[in-house]
Amino acid sequence: PFSGEGAGAGRDIGGDGIGPDVVAQAVRVLTALDLGLDFAEAPVGGHAYRVAGHPLPPETLALAARADAILFGAVGDPDCDGLERQLRPEQAILGLRRELGLFANLRPARLFPGLADASALRPEVAGAIDLMIVRELTGDVYFGTPRGRRTTADGLREGFDTMRYDEAEIARIARLGFETARGRRGRLCSVDKANVLETSQLWRDVVTEIAAEYSDVALTHMYVDNAAMQLVRAPGQFDTIVTGNLFGDILSDQASMCVGSIGLLPSASLDAAGKGLYEPIHGSAPDIAGQDRANPLATILSAAMMLRHSLGLADAAARIEAAVAAVLASGARTADLGGTIGTAAMGDRVIAALAA
Ligand code: ATP
Ligand code: MG
Repeated sequence: PFSGEGAGAGRDIGGDGIGPDVVAQAVRVLTALDLGLDFAEAPVGGHAYRVAGHPLPPETLALAARADAILFGAVGDPDCDGLERQLRPEQAILGLRRELGLFANLRPARLFPGLADASALRPEVAGAIDLMIVRELTGDVYFGTPRGRRTTADGLREGFDTMRYDEAEIARIARLGFETARGRRGRLCSVDKANVLETSQLWRDVVTEIAAEYSDVALTHMYVDNAAMQLVRAPGQFDTIVTGNLFGDILSDQASMCVGSIGLLPSASLDAAGKGLYEPIHGSAPDIAGQDRANPLATILSAAMMLRHSLGLADAAARIEAAVAAVLASGARTADLGGTIGTAAMGDRVIAALAA
């Protein structure tokens, strides 16, 4: 219990740009479900820099650490571009991931009925997509050392990075991949580049070892180049994909464009105990901030993921997802999907569909 900290209307942890607009709608939807949730808010991002001098103030981090789950809007603010790196809004989300030990990023991709025209794929191909990408977030070439720039003996500028994983990091994400597949259709595809990379050979070995604990899950392996091709050729073959930080970054963006608008796609970042941070995959969209034009559905669907993965409220999560599907099937569209419905009105529609 937070005993009344924060305003509870999505202004603060909503962050920058359209963050507050969309988080406010997700909070309305959660409130309408009357689940007895206790909300507290704290400032983050460029907004926090302005009011507290830092994009991730200690009070915000402390509150996030005490919460059972975090619903996050977006950070990013063109006015902060000139600041030194540690003070830029984006550092807030990186800091939250690091400090809270959020090692896994889950991104579902599913085509909602009636939205085939929003996909980059042919309707019959897009219609078959219902997959979950489980991406490792803390290792890989993003953080491996040594890394840097230098000049070769021939006087050429050279850049280098180190791709590395240890077996504990791989086992941790592999287990989450198997658990996720178990809760879905029971099929896990591990994506790597084991024909070329040492890291990937270890990855494949460890995932195969962990598979012995999950005899009910069907494991396959795929090279990342083939996976990229199969995602557009026959995406219906995938249930759950588990992969490293770099390949997951690329494949999850690719998968998202296979099912349509950036304004529709949620994500979860989880720690080892199932606590998580939930946010839309889109950014702060400063071009449409505060204009009642943002699509709140990605954030509303992120709230549903939060109920399922961190709060043990899978039934309520399914109710939200069904309400969103019904609203989209009815033809309601925000501007990103070619419609005219505003942010708050979309929230109204979802709340009405919950009651239906
Ligand atoms: P950031 O730096 O915060 O990531 P960005 O501008 O790079 O911001 P996005 O915020 O993801 O990236 O926005 C990309 C484009 O998509 C923008 O034109 C934006 O208006 C649009 N967009 C993003 N999210 C939404 C949304 N929820 N509803 C409607 N349009 C959106
Ligand atoms: Mg962006």
